[in-house]
Amino acid sequence: MIKILIGMESSWSYKACLNIKQNDLTAALRSSISSQTELYKHFSINKCCYCNTIYGIFHTDHKTIPFSKIKDDFLKITKKEIPKIFGKDNIKFNVIFLDIDKEFKKEWVLYHQSVADYQILCASCNIKKSNN
Ligand SMILES: [Zn+2]
Repeated sequence: MIKILIGMESSWSYKACLNIKQNDLTAALRSSISSQTELYKHFSINKCCYCNTIYGIFHTDHKTIPFSKIKDDFLKITKKEIPKIFGKDNIKFNVIFLDIDKEFKKEWVLYHQSVADYQILCASCNIKKSNN
């Protein structure tokens, strides 16, 4: 019983600590790996893996492990301090990690690369999948 309570307590405080900057953190984590997903799309045929359509807009979908799970797992295992302040890039104004967090970013990018796999989905199948 005590063990369970401690577990709940620590996972709650972990979430509470992250809560304020959760969106910026997620955005920076996403922008850091966008070159990986763009590269996959660049070398893929524009055909939906679910409905086989070849028309419309296509997205690179995280196939086996959702991005949110990869992110949560990484934040639990990293020993590095989780960044709290962020920058914006000058071209697309995406949220990015600051230079002081480059080691955190490097660890994240390598971790993501080691566990992520992808598939191409059309826009509507991609929305259906993320609503499940
Ligand atoms: Zn589709």
